[in-house]
Amino acid sequence: MNVLFVSSEVTPFSKTGGLADVSGSLPTALANLGHQVTVVTPAYRQARQHGLPLEPMGQTLEIPIGTKLVQGQLLRCPRPGGVNVILIEQQDYFDRDGLYQQDGHDYTDNCERFVFFCRAAMELIRQLDLSVDVIHCNDWQTGLLPALLRIEYAHARGYEEIVTVMTIHNMAYQGHFWHWDMLLTGLDWKYFNWRQMEFWGNLNLLKTGLIFADGITTVSRRYAQEIQSQPMGCGLEDVLRQRGADLTGIINGVDYSIWDPQTDPHLDTNYSVNDWRSGKARCKQALQRELGLAESPDAPLLGFVGRLADQKGLDLLASVIGQWAGQEDAQWAILGTGEPRYHDLLTQLAAAHPGKIGLSLAFRDDLAHQIEAGADMFLMPSRFEPCGLNQLYSLKYGAVPIVRATGGLADTVCDATEATMVNGTANGFSFVDYEPEELERTVARAVAMYRNEPDRWAGLVGTGMRQDWSWEASAGKYVELYASLAARHRSARANEGGTN
Ligand code: ADP
Repeated sequence: MNVLFVSSEVTPFSKTGGLADVSGSLPTALANLGHQVTVVTPAYRQARQHGLPLEPMGQTLEIPIGTKLVQGQLLRCPRPGGVNVILIEQQDYFDRDGLYQQDGHDYTDNCERFVFFCRAAMELIRQLDLSVDVIHCNDWQTGLLPALLRIEYAHARGYEEIVTVMTIHNMAYQGHFWHWDMLLTGLDWKYFNWRQMEFWGNLNLLKTGLIFADGITTVSRRYAQEIQSQPMGCGLEDVLRQRGADLTGIINGVDYSIWDPQTDPHLDTNYSVNDWRSGKARCKQALQRELGLAESPDAPLLGFVGRLADQKGLDLLASVIGQWAGQEDAQWAILGTGEPRYHDLLTQLAAAHPGKIGLSLAFRDDLAHQIEAGADMFLMPSRFEPCGLNQLYSLKYGAVPIVRATGGLADTVCDATEATMVNGTANGFSFVDYEPEELERTVARAVAMYRNEPDRWAGLVGTGMRQDWSWEASAGKYVELYASLAARHRSARANEGGTN
């Protein structure tokens, strides 16, 4: 099949979170299954900073935005694995410090920026004469695409056979804009109604995508269930229930060419499931040095990497760290950026417990890998987690995940109980109720096993490291979905033709 994969962030060009990892690796997995994949993404300033060769394609797009015409250029970047990457350059919109915001505030023209992006993605199909079967859209930034296809391009030559898939990576981010931004979309006001693009008086771009897409996916089976009711549906639970028959949960995969301790270039020492004890010990020492932690080989080291947002359970984490740091020898390695209040909270904790809490309030890819390798355990006490990638990385790196059983965390981490240890399915620790005491009890369970039952601990690490969460199976599920949507669309068109 010919897939146009449209995403507002793609590793290695740009990244704020898991969407970038998925958009960097799923297209390669689809190409490995024999499909033609073209990835379309903005040419942000970040994309230029990695020294990747971005070649101008000599193509200019002229995109109507409200009453103006905005020009954009197309750049191409050859990538290994047979995936074509096209970057849309528009300096006023994309040559900025951040992807979506600066100093914690969203850019005020985000709607305009991503309307431009969606329209440019639609137009480049015609301009480059691409053959496309499926447009795979990701999150609100691409939510307008399915509507454009069905409303404006439905009968345009070359677009008639195209179907769209809308993947939800996080329901908490929906692209809400004031109603006047409807003018920017160029679509008729008649679509601004509660059944289509409007949501409580605002324009909602994720809802738009969910209404107009042929198929909807989200990134784990559990999350696909959770978002059909409150609170995880974030107001769109009725829309999702109504489209329930077209909603599938497909778990994200890992790109093991980037996340594998055997080959990871960021590590002090590479290691595998056969020599993880010595390998992780060296990585732990290097991490302790890097973060100014006491170089104690036996102290359990617990890692956290992520956006410092409410979603990630930082209030639980801070409460447990505060409680433990005064009494226990456990160490904490924390890497993240996000909300200023969490920056302040963690800075205060780290200052109060030097040598026990290593904190980096930055976006550092190298350190993210080093924490996975150096930590004995990895914390994800999330309020909600559509899929979560860090727990999958931590399984591979032998950093036993401690998670709240929600979304993709529930689907991938099996709590260590007597029964699951015996049958060999345990790969981590989990808890259900979002309470600091529950996290505390779970951390205590994990630390007790780490200290007192080294053989059982080794069993847990080994199970996780041997598991395969690569893209292969999930990429195959996307292909099946594309094919079934394309077949449905063909037969609907044939029926339409028959009645004309
Ligand atoms: P989300 O998509 O909600 O942010 P995921 O667990 O799915 O969460 O993916 C997060 C990705 O972003 C991981 O690859 C993680 O390593 C990376 N990441 C998050 N914050 C940072 C940071 N401060 N520095 C480096 N990498 C980070």
